[in-house]
Amino acid sequence: MPDRKTIGVLALQGAFARHIDVVKSLGVSTVELRDPDDLPGINALIIPGGESTAMSKMLVRWGLIEPLQKLIKGGLPVFGTCAGLILLADRLKDWDALPRLGGLNITVARNAYGRQLDSFEASLNITIPGSPEFSESAMEGVFIRAPRIPADSVGSGVEVLCSYDGFPVLVRQENILGAAFHPELTGDNRLHEWFLREIINP
Ligand code: GLN
Repeated sequence: MPDRKTIGVLALQGAFARHIDVVKSLGVSTVELRDPDDLPGINALIIPGGESTAMSKMLVRWGLIEPLQKLIKGGLPVFGTCAGLILLADRLKDWDALPRLGGLNITVARNAYGRQLDSFEASLNITIPGSPEFSESAMEGVFIRAPRIPADSVGSGVEVLCSYDGFPVLVRQENILGAAFHPELTGDNRLHEWFLREIINP
């Protein structure tokens, strides 16, 4: 893995620290991204879980929405998890006016797993052609007040890499990868490795 790449981890709010630990453990350097001045130094971006409404406010306050949209349209690799997935969705089921980045041709329903299922773990069978490491064993996904992607909302250009209980939970559209769960919490780093290998250094 070349270590000259630098991964920006959006560090405005939420669960960014574990993503930084995972990326560093894979031998790649990171930058905590808070300011548009940090953008020229990054080769990819991770948007962590947290609270999408709070992150949205800070993206607006720090003037990050437009520069990031431009970079993502230009091909910057992005991995959004949970709240990060919400911020990357082209459509939100409720409160579609939430300022965000977009880019994924999907609809997302926030907090849609209901109260009893506020948090849960699930064994996820990820299928990615050409990446046999995912068929060796399931990945544990931690879902925390997770967003839900209605299967019929997945538009053209989006590949569903994993579904759980009939709902897509891992999707990719070219340079954008989105997970409804938290892949940084279990110590199973296959998805981060795959993002670094296949999306950043294809
Ligand atoms: N419920 C949160 C939101 O709507 C997302 C939760 C998470 O990122 N774990 O932003």
